[in-house]
Amino acid sequence: MTEAVQTTSSTESPNTETPNSRPPARSKSLAPLTQLLGFLWPHKGRLIAASVALVFTAGAQLGLGYGVKVLIDEGFTGADPAGLYKAVSLMLVIGLAMACGAMIRFYLVSWLGERVSADLRSAVFNNLVHLQPSYFETNHSGEIMSRLTTDTTLLQTLIGSSVSLAVRNALTLTGALTLMVITNLKLSLVILIAVPVTLLPILIFGRRVRNLSNKSQQSIAEVGSHAGEIFQSIKVVQSFNREAAEKTAFGHDVEQAFTVARARVFQRALLTGFAIFLLMGGMVGMMWSGGVDVIEGRMTGGELGAFVFYAVMVGTAFATLSEVWGDLQRAAGAAERLMELLQEQPNIPDTGTTKPELGEALRFADITFAYPSRPDTPALHHFDLSITPGESVALVGPSGAGKSTVFELMLRFYDPGEGALFYGNTPLRDVPLQDWRAKIALVPQQPTLFSGTIFSNIAYGVTAPDQEAVERAATMAHAHEFIAALPEGYQSDLGAQGVRLSGGQRQRIALARAILADPELLLLDEATSALDTESEWHVQQALADIMRERTTIIIAHRLSTVINADRIVVMDRGKVIDSGRHEALIARCDLYQRLASLQFQSTEKAPGHSA
Ligand code: ATP
Repeated sequence: MTEAVQTTSSTESPNTETPNSRPPARSKSLAPLTQLLGFLWPHKGRLIAASVALVFTAGAQLGLGYGVKVLIDEGFTGADPAGLYKAVSLMLVIGLAMACGAMIRFYLVSWLGERVSADLRSAVFNNLVHLQPSYFETNHSGEIMSRLTTDTTLLQTLIGSSVSLAVRNALTLTGALTLMVITNLKLSLVILIAVPVTLLPILIFGRRVRNLSNKSQQSIAEVGSHAGEIFQSIKVVQSFNREAAEKTAFGHDVEQAFTVARARVFQRALLTGFAIFLLMGGMVGMMWSGGVDVIEGRMTGGELGAFVFYAVMVGTAFATLSEVWGDLQRAAGAAERLMELLQEQPNIPDTGTTKPELGEALRFADITFAYPSRPDTPALHHFDLSITPGESVALVGPSGAGKSTVFELMLRFYDPGEGALFYGNTPLRDVPLQDWRAKIALVPQQPTLFSGTIFSNIAYGVTAPDQEAVERAATMAHAHEFIAALPEGYQSDLGAQGVRLSGGQRQRIALARAILADPELLLLDEATSALDTESEWHVQQALADIMRERTTIIIAHRLSTVINADRIVVMDRGKVIDSGRHEALIARCDLYQRLASLQFQSTEKAPGHSA
């Protein structure tokens, strides 16, 4: 019978999606679940203990049927109160055994569910954190996050309850069926024929309910993401007076979700009514047929009682199993998606073993590189550049010239298609990635701060930070003064992504972070906006100091930075057009002249302040 339901459900259950609008899992088989065994194996002791507790409880549950028989035959109908005492004691012992077994089973099985989902979350995160940044361009971080939470929660439910429910009910189903047959063969046969006939309509309704419930979860998820988007952009919404329009649009989504939910509830109500009617009909039929047998002396009242008990058990186990089947399929989809994330390999090879020396020149040798999403338009085209140790180089060029791409390649977020980067005479590919990146600190145009304190943000790049070093770095970045003026100083909490600081302050924190990391190579993407005149002056001062001390490559947008650099490299369309100092370039390079007159001067706010 179980088999029958399984095949029906497996062909009919159309959807293995979790309640997000993400692609459905490809396979409908349960095979992906086997991959979870690797996560269960380390906890095999608990798994075995949980299985023993499970079998024990199922056995005790089946023993209840015998208890019912003794209770009716010897307790209620027998004249001797000792019979009742015996029957009640037996029920009590069985009840106690069931309670203990269930308690232990529940604890162990739930523990396993929680443990495995926690291990999975960590394993997926630990794998993804090494993947190249381009992976997160094509795979939305929102979706990955929902996989980390929703899919792992699905698996937690699977291991922590569904599998145990399935095994327990399969056991009780088999046991109760066997005991039914032993108790009364004729009645059992009648039921075995009647059950599939009556269950068919229930399965059909069940399928409809499941379809609608998937749809309903999806529309609820849409409602959630709609609200999320609006709240994130609340300033734009309010400044354009779009509250009323957004209320209408949101109301529309909510109503759609309600319509789907109503259809689901209606089908579910029909299903419930139908199921109760069929169940009661079956019970009455069974009572009638069994009652005749009791009256005619072919079975005792206790046997009929036990039989009814087993029949109810079979029915319940059967219903639970068909429900659990849906959960198993959903979990298989979740497992498949999580395993995909686990198997994702970084496409930046990290096989190098040459430890990099200190203070070598960095060289881009005839590099042609196109982003994977635009293979036909190279962002760098036969790009050559050599940077000597201690030099400060300003990259300038029109938007899209490839300046940021130079940084991306230097950090090995991508590897070039043609040509190679060298550190001294060693190709970068031969240097272990961690050793290479340890030499570099990046200050991006939009500084990235994490929620936490100012101290933890500055100390992000070092393993054992001390207050003194952090303060020294902050002082160099011209950040100490404003930090010290905050009520909680370095322990001030920044809020999510540093929202509690101004743009200029954020940038100086990011600068302090880079200074504290003490990199050999400092990469700086200069902010074009977000700085008021005073912050900018501070940042410029800090930069001038830093540039004197180490190899610095700056994507420059300000005249003051450009003038301070040892060398200015003019880029256009992925190539180096010219390089030299400001005065020389102004005299000979048309593009530089244009940039200097348009870009630098328009962003230059206080050149008089620069060092
Ligand atoms: P800007 O000064 O505007 O930041 P840039 O000189 O830094 O420009 P890059 O960001 O290096 O220019 O971009 C060079 C070219 O590569 C551009 O044509 C850009 O559209 C393209 N590009 C940049 N990043 C990607 C990406 N992740 N995927 C595909 N193409 C990209």
